[in-house]
Amino acid sequence: MVTAVYPGSFDPATYGHLDVIRRASVSFDQVIVGVLHNSAKSPLFSVEERVNILEKATKSMPNVIVKPFDGLSVNFARQNHAKVIVRGLRAVTDFEYELQMAQTNRVLAPDIDTVFLTTSLEYAYLSSTIMKEVAKFNGDLSKFAPPEIIEAVMLKMYEK
Ligand code: ADP
Repeated sequence: MVTAVYPGSFDPATYGHLDVIRRASVSFDQVIVGVLHNSAKSPLFSVEERVNILEKATKSMPNVIVKPFDGLSVNFARQNHAKVIVRGLRAVTDFEYELQMAQTNRVLAPDIDTVFLTTSLEYAYLSSTIMKEVAKFNGDLSKFAPPEIIEAVMLKMYEK
């Protein structure tokens, strides 16, 4: 049984993240999405809200679970008996940082491998940040995330 963790901020999840999760769920027996409690980034959604959003969006994938976490991804992987960390690669701009992270994680935990899934072309431009920017100016979000996530973004923006 091969378990993979997919760590990230997911503030909030987009179709790009959901595509990586769906594809990872085909290759691995279990995928644990780790939602980083990253206070430094002052996220739009609380960690509980981000977990909630992802749980709803992945409910059709029985081998996917979502958990909050804090600290190092390798520790989160170890705690969950995962041998693989999944990350998504959109463009060369992601590459340098992701390579450095993967190499650091390799030094910290040689028994855990990082696997990169290259993004599906239709989501290559997409990030949570871009989605929030468009939302701020009332743009159409329908290509970025499923309706329940868009609703959560609009509610949150309205609340602010
Ligand atoms: P982080 O703050 O750790 O980068 P993100 O939530 O922004 O967290 O992203 C988590 C992971 O998902 C990263 O590996 C990122 O490269 C990947 N990712 C983000 N958006 C997309 C996308 N549109 N397509 C594929 N992978 C993506």
